[in-house]
Amino acid sequence: MAEIRIVKAETLKEKPDVSKIGFGTHFTDYMFEMDYTEKDGWHDARIIPYGDITVSPANTTLHYGQAIFEGLKAYRQGKRAVIFRPKTHLERMENSCRLLDIPEFPMETVHEGLKQLVALEKDWIPTERGQSLYIRPFIFADDPYLGVSVSGSYKLLIILSPVAAYYAHGFAPVKIMVEDTYVRAVRGGLGEAKTPANYAASLHAGLVAHQKGYDQTLWLDGVERKYIEEVGSMNILFKIGGKVVTPELDGSILNGVTRRTVLAVAKEWGVPTEERKISIDEIIDGYKSGALEEVFGSGTAAVISPVGVLGYKGHDMVIGGGKIGPFAQKMYDYIEGLHVGEVEDKYGFIETVAEY
Ligand SMILES: *Cc1c(COP(=O)(O)O)cnc(C)c1O
Repeated sequence: MAEIRIVKAETLKEKPDVSKIGFGTHFTDYMFEMDYTEKDGWHDARIIPYGDITVSPANTTLHYGQAIFEGLKAYRQGKRAVIFRPKTHLERMENSCRLLDIPEFPMETVHEGLKQLVALEKDWIPTERGQSLYIRPFIFADDPYLGVSVSGSYKLLIILSPVAAYYAHGFAPVKIMVEDTYVRAVRGGLGEAKTPANYAASLHAGLVAHQKGYDQTLWLDGVERKYIEEVGSMNILFKIGGKVVTPELDGSILNGVTRRTVLAVAKEWGVPTEERKISIDEIIDGYKSGALEEVFGSGTAAVISPVGVLGYKGHDMVIGGGKIGPFAQKMYDYIEGLHVGEVEDKYGFIETVAEY
């Protein structure tokens, strides 16, 4: 494994009141950085003071978007600083790299760099329930070149941001609009990669949904606009007739880590799970017949996001009386319990990186 050098910061920042800062507004004192060139491959792994970076105005990412990212979280468990499923997130980052022709990064060095960075910044991990230290690794193409081609140079960075509890006013259901005009990704495209392009493709529809009074959009497949895909920053799961049902991974949706956690825990509880195609008509029928018990999203940011209203073609379906379903509530409490160490980690999801 490559050596990781450390450049000390001259002054440290004052830590904010995390309950007041929302998501992604404040950053810690240090960041991890590594460079790739064709000549030297990935090199110069370092932990340096957090700060602005300079890029050429011709930087390939700014023009053509060859970039990927990850999002995971660190928590305090009493006297320990821990990260939730870091290896699973780094493996997905490798997959995103493959889909965007970004050269494979040295897994061991990046994993070690992540652990060392979080250990160094352990005092930035908030202490209150629901709060966490959000970890954002990302890679972007760095050629100063306007030609359209796969870049020859890259930067990999990891930055850390303390985040407030996602549900500032308590765990609450969201209103989601089923999007039947715009599409996010198609099979054979980049839907399975965690890449800025998918977010760029979703911004306008998100804005329109907001204007109509919804919190987020639920995407349908890009070909027939018939099968349910995901929410765009979350995967979607349904409880239908006692089973947990979620769209299968067919190349156009992200393989969410929280989705995997939910499926693993549901199996452990003896709740049947199905990963398969789900049409919007099946959901409407289930709503009408009463078989549709619950709808919820899963993602690192919110963990579990119960859906109280699903709007489709101008009609609102109010799920479970617009209240949090018992399964979503139980799952949320259980995963939160895993994060803070109140629930035994039978799965090996937790990695300890430092002690206080
Ligand atoms: C990150 C992300 C998710 C959620 O994945 P987690 O690994 O559970 O955080 C879902 N969909 C998209 C498009 C994403 O980028």
